[in-house]
Amino acid sequence: MLTSRLPIRVEPYRLAARAESLSGLMALDRFERLAAQVGAQSGDCQVWLDFGIDAQGRREIRGRLEAELQLPCRRCLEPMAQHVESEFLLGMVSSDALAAELPSTHEPVLVENEQLNLLEVVEDELILSLPQVVYHDEAHCRVSRDQLSSGEEAESSEPTPASPFEVLRHLKGKS
Ligand SMILES: [Zn+2]
Repeated sequence: MLTSRLPIRVEPYRLAARAESLSGLMALDRFERLAAQVGAQSGDCQVWLDFGIDAQGRREIRGRLEAELQLPCRRCLEPMAQHVESEFLLGMVSSDALAAELPSTHEPVLVENEQLNLLEVVEDELILSLPQVVYHDEAHCRVSRDQLSSGEEAESSEPTPASPFEVLRHLKGKS
């Protein structure tokens, strides 16, 4: 279980030269592009990053992330909890031209002034790992429930949650 925060900016060439690993949490509410796609999120994303230099001299990052997201159900648009995780292999490049030279196994990440913005990297990977569509189970989806039953029947079939006050009254009456 990770507890520390991942830094937002790192010097990736230096980390790769030392074959360092970074792991930590990143707050999901910092990801504005993600929020624009699937709605506001809370909680943290867990991230593990291994920096290194491969046999061809490419500076790379092997990464993994995991998060619990609230994604809108395609049928009823209510958010539903969804576990998202992904593994990725990034190749560091200093220009778009160099990105084209990377093998297809690597996703390019642009390093500018020896700096890498991990917030952008993690957000990109999180967006790429989103499932195409998510649906509630039919039994739990508001839309299919409304379609299956109609009007008053739908309401009466709902179990009415017992109010804690009623339970108390009941107990008192018994004693
Ligand atoms: Zn639904």
